[in-house]
Amino acid sequence: MKYDLIVVGGGPGGLMAAKTAAEDGLKVVMIERKKDLTKIHRACMQTFYIHKVTASPDAEEGRTHGDGYIEPVSVELLPDRCRFNFPEPGFSIDYKGSYTPYYHWIDLSPSGYYIHRHKPNDKIWALYFDKEVFLAELLSLVQKAGVEVLQETIAESAENTQDGVKVKIRAKSGEQTLEASKAIAADGLNSNIVESLGLNKDRKVMSPPIKILACEMEGVETNYPPFTFFWISIPSLSPMNFGMGVAGEGRFLSWVLTTSNLSPNEIFEKFMKHPTFAPWFRNARIVQKTAAGSEHGLRTPIKEPAVGNVVIVGDAGAPVETWIQGALACGYKAVKAIEKELNGQNGNQEYIDWWQGAFAFNDPHYWKVAAAFPLNMICTDEEVDYLYRLFQGRIGCAMGLIAKNLDLIKKERPELYEKLMKTAPPPEAS
Ligand SMILES: Cc1cc2nc3c(=O)[nH]c(=O)nc-3n(C[C@H](O)[C@H](O)[C@H](O)COP(=O)(O)OP(=O)(O)OC[C@H]3O[C@@H](n4cnc5c(N)ncnc54)[C@H](O)[C@@H]3O)c2cc1C
Repeated sequence: MKYDLIVVGGGPGGLMAAKTAAEDGLKVVMIERKKDLTKIHRACMQTFYIHKVTASPDAEEGRTHGDGYIEPVSVELLPDRCRFNFPEPGFSIDYKGSYTPYYHWIDLSPSGYYIHRHKPNDKIWALYFDKEVFLAELLSLVQKAGVEVLQETIAESAENTQDGVKVKIRAKSGEQTLEASKAIAADGLNSNIVESLGLNKDRKVMSPPIKILACEMEGVETNYPPFTFFWISIPSLSPMNFGMGVAGEGRFLSWVLTTSNLSPNEIFEKFMKHPTFAPWFRNARIVQKTAAGSEHGLRTPIKEPAVGNVVIVGDAGAPVETWIQGALACGYKAVKAIEKELNGQNGNQEYIDWWQGAFAFNDPHYWKVAAAFPLNMICTDEEVDYLYRLFQGRIGCAMGLIAKNLDLIKKERPELYEKLMKTAPPPEAS
């Protein structure tokens, strides 16, 4: 074999895998579609979650965030860098770019009623960081470790063979097939490799395709404390929530994720003119827009993301996102699994077991809560206002607070109670 390992995709998952494998002495080639993998074309809020805020029904406890990586992580703020620590997989990554701490997370209704996702002024729950700088730093470690990096090259498919794997690639110079003992598919949400291995067949599609827009803006003025992240629910604009957060140096980053017929652009324009929120945008200017989308909508995750000589890493196996930290952890764990397999041990099963416990989306309970999305799909603006007013100033997430206050809602708004119970029965509080 020319290579020990082919890594497909140079996002956080692929870079981490390539770096780990090459540092451990494997001969690695990494395939990346983009001309410059450090340029982000995929919408991302660039938030590194430290203290996981809740979308769990156990609202007051402030447990896990709704969708991604749930193993503990920590950040050390050193004089010249941040160090992201991953105690369970057992690695750390340094980052020398800029960052802004988030102290608040506030959920807002159409008329501006608010719920705190975690105790205000408690502690930093996340850092905004510069993903492009982060990827550039990882890439330089990948190159230093001796990985052959092929950019502007598309991996089209992978095929398990008796003693290895073949990956078909296409570049300007033409098509060729690479062979290696092992491969890692870290080619993101609409993964060619996952599709070619037939791993999408058993996945259930849970929503229409999701369209995504991320905007970077200057001059946004809210009346909320600095370093706040907003999660905004306006059903009449979109069946999904909007997000918005400070992005350092007075910049704001916002995103729209939607399954609506309206484009995310149209939704965002309407949002900027919405009576409650228009004052935020009086002096705002859009600096940059990044769009993205999923071809298939929200899908159930791949249950067993290690098949023969191929291991699936990061978003390639997830409903939408593993988060940057989840993709990094996958990249690291996948290489350790592969090393075991190369030594005749059952590394694949170990990886599968880890994957099933490390992400919220693998918990069947997650699919009942599905963060706060169903609320936007089933309620009117007035009903969301009612519920948020009921919980104004409380700590938790809307779905969790609803689950704990069903009796009150039934008494005050029986028709809304019926609707909630019929369309999105909230899980019992654990
Ligand atoms: C709106 C939105 C906001 C988000 N905000 C956050 C956040 O604040 N914090 C956070 O941690 N996460 C966030 N995420 C998720 C995060 O961006 C991803 O989970 C993470 O980037 C996944 O990393 P990955 O390496 O698995 O995949 P990706 O980052 O998608 O990387 C895949 C790479 O593979 C390449 N590629 C794709 N197909 C091929 C192919 N056929 N051949 C070769 N190369 C290919 C792509 O060009 C890309 O470089 C957000 C996601 C969305 C949608």
